[in-house]
Amino acid sequence: MQDIIHELKKRIQGEVRFDKISRILYSTDASIYEIEPVGVVIPKSSEDIQATVEIAAKNEIPIIPRGGGTSLVGQSIGAGIVLDCSKYLHRILEVNQEEKWARVQPGVVLDQINAHVKQWGLCFGPDTATSNRANLGGLIGNNSSGARSIFYGKTIDHVLELKVQLATGKEVVLKTLNTSELTGKIERSDFEGSIYKAVVEISHANKEEIDRRFPKILRRVGGYNLDEFVNGEEKFNLAKMIVGSEGTLGVVTEAKVNLVSLPKHRVLGVLHFSDLFSALDSVTPILDFQPSAIELLDQFIIRQTRTTLEYARRMTFVEGDPGAILLVEFQGDSKKRLMDSLNKLINFLKKHKLGTAHVAVIKPHEQENVWFIRKAGLGLMMGTKEARKPIGFVEDTAVPAEKLAEYIREFDAVIREHGTEACYYAHASVGCLHVRPLLNLKSKDDLARMQSLADHVSDLVLKYGG
Ligand SMILES: Cc1cc2nc3c(=O)[nH]c(=O)nc-3n(C[C@H](O)[C@H](O)[C@H](O)COP(=O)(O)OP(=O)(O)OC[C@H]3O[C@@H](n4cnc5c(N)ncnc54)[C@H](O)[C@@H]3O)c2cc1C
Repeated sequence: MQDIIHELKKRIQGEVRFDKISRILYSTDASIYEIEPVGVVIPKSSEDIQATVEIAAKNEIPIIPRGGGTSLVGQSIGAGIVLDCSKYLHRILEVNQEEKWARVQPGVVLDQINAHVKQWGLCFGPDTATSNRANLGGLIGNNSSGARSIFYGKTIDHVLELKVQLATGKEVVLKTLNTSELTGKIERSDFEGSIYKAVVEISHANKEEIDRRFPKILRRVGGYNLDEFVNGEEKFNLAKMIVGSEGTLGVVTEAKVNLVSLPKHRVLGVLHFSDLFSALDSVTPILDFQPSAIELLDQFIIRQTRTTLEYARRMTFVEGDPGAILLVEFQGDSKKRLMDSLNKLINFLKKHKLGTAHVAVIKPHEQENVWFIRKAGLGLMMGTKEARKPIGFVEDTAVPAEKLAEYIREFDAVIREHGTEACYYAHASVGCLHVRPLLNLKSKDDLARMQSLADHVSDLVLKYGG
């Protein structure tokens, strides 16, 4: 190992940290897992990344690129060299306001780019709840999306071009190619050519299997995006294979991403329900009104919010002690049209006796309170003083939105059969809830429950087409 450290220190300008404290610091992310890396490199340039990748490849050590480290299932940890792109590689290199795109380094934080391009009425579409610390490199690695994914889709829909460091130490530019450009790439005899050839061959040879097995839902992010390559060679963009690959195919050193226009107005309805399931039963009819977001908060989170002073004083939009609330947002440039949509929705819900209270939140600073609490949801949940905590291991499962209520009913029954209960929140609009069973990881019995629940839930997701 000393030779490797020596070579790294000789070749790179950034930091090389193989001491015990650094390794422990980088052994966790926002998941329940913990894996100590062999060392950490904090690059100052793409040349540093290139040298690290070359040295790691020569010594058969895996590379784990890392941004904000906010991944929920251990994507940014591993027993290799962690490459922390967040500390030095955070420059916004270019913005084209007319064509609405930006070129950035991978360590740019989502809120940072949004603050910068706001002056031109622009933003990056996908809006993860961790926007104040998640990096563009991490969004690309996870194919992230957020509360408004029904409107903006996922990161894959906004990546135009990537510079990627491959395992050979060669940097490639991946962008949309026409048919003749693609043929040119496939005919190359080098490593880059072999990648293009392999992706075309694998996706074509397995087209039927991919069509049959890849869930047809917006929030699918598991596995490599082979489904992007099955339908012909027009607009072939290998960057879409890197998106969602969790750092396993290469290191992104630069990204050209699409920007979207900020809407002039947003209005919110905070819809109260007596219990979780009546809230979920209302999601499909609400979707007909074409909102930009439908987010769920369950009673556990609402009650937790009231136990923390800073959050409690912002909870001006909740009446009484509802079993669950849905935050339904409309966005656009005509406030009148948005108010019409919200009023029509509230009248519809009242007419069909859906919901116990319907609170319209129109003023921007009041809407900020709602999103502040929604974004803090996970932290608030974890604040429980009980031994059993909400544990994320069947966290981001997604099914078609119209099947969400039925799926969660069965999910909840499985959890109760295991002698516990769960917290539920997040993206009801797209059938993707964060479900966190309450478990005590210091208890052997609960560890066994965790394993059994994971097995049950993976079967259940498949059953519902997720
Ligand atoms: C409270 C909470 C709420 C969340 N809400 C959402 C949500 O609404 N939507 C959502 O999608 N996710 C959500 N997440 C998960 C996570 O925050 C996002 O996926 C986020 O975009 C990850 O960014 P990051 O910079 O922290 O990435 P990291 O965790 O550092 O990395 C993510 C993946 O990308 C890879 N990676 C990082 N940099 C590079 C690079 N330069 N090149 C190649 N690969 C790279 C890593 O190896 C890893 O596999 C949430 C997490 C928490 C804790």
